Amino acid sequence: MILSLHHVTATVDDAQEDLDFCLGGLGLRLVKKTVNFDNHHVYHFYYGDERGTPGTLWTTFPYKSRGVKPGAKGAGQVTATSFSVPVGSLDRWKTRLRARGLEVADEAPRFGEEALRVADPSGLVFELIATDGDARTPWARGGVAAGVAIRGLHSVTLLVREPAKTLELMTGLLGFAVVDEAEGRIRVAVSGGGAGRIMDIRHDPDADAAVNGLGTVHHVAMAVAGDDDQVRLREELLQFGCKVTEVRDRCYFKSIYFREPGGVLFEVATIRPGFLADESVATLGQALKLPPWEEMNRADIEGALVPIHTSRSGT
Ligand code: ZN
Repeated sequence: MILSLHHVTATVDDAQEDLDFCLGGLGLRLVKKTVNFDNHHVYHFYYGDERGTPGTLWTTFPYKSRGVKPGAKGAGQVTATSFSVPVGSLDRWKTRLRARGLEVADEAPRFGEEALRVADPSGLVFELIATDGDARTPWARGGVAAGVAIRGLHSVTLLVREPAKTLELMTGLLGFAVVDEAEGRIRVAVSGGGAGRIMDIRHDPDADAAVNGLGTVHHVAMAVAGDDDQVRLREELLQFGCKVTEVRDRCYFKSIYFREPGGVLFEVATIRPGFLADESVATLGQALKLPPWEEMNRADIEGALVPIHTSRSGT
């Protein structure tokens, strides 16, 4: 029933630093500039490919000066977000990211793929994984050559203390299958696997509990085709024993949220209506878009948000 990853969402510190890293560093496209629907004085940035295709999306809430403390990585959380890049591109990425003053480290090859690791200004951990045969078209105008640019999400790494119940949910209900295993890490994949359809479950019985806050991933979202699948899956999750939210309208998709047994916050989001619902492909991400119910507050919202620039951000 799950098609692929949909997006990964994190709490970050400074809005401009986040834009500079994601646009100028990673070369992603800002596909939507809106506000947190649960706190309209905080931006919600969506980054992805040209159209914001599900499976390419990284999204952030910049909470600087809003009373949120730095979080801590640990059990019950996504601890690393991985993007897919072409085989042979990692040296180019190292040069590019180091030129921006970022610390880049080699990862040991994972399940046959080479990778590097870099942290963003908030301390979030990203990996670039060199993947053969990822046919997705990269965003061509992000200042990164097409033979190097990010294709989309590769996978996420979850950390849990005990993997058994997490695996039971993911394989029994969400449609994932175990495809590989290494010391302390189980790889599951859905819809035939490949970049954008993978999650790695790291397990460590002694891991400290995660603390939500600045510099941590808030949740990972998976894609379903439509409303019917989402409602059916919600019923199955309730029967499994998960607490699941009602269906929430996120304007660009509909969502349900629940915690998997290891404590990681999961979301299941629909493919439609997508990011072209209120902007054209050419102008995506340029204007501040608000949900219809917030339009009456636009002047107040715009007045309170910190000024940012996105035109040639950090490049
Ligand atoms: Zn989300």
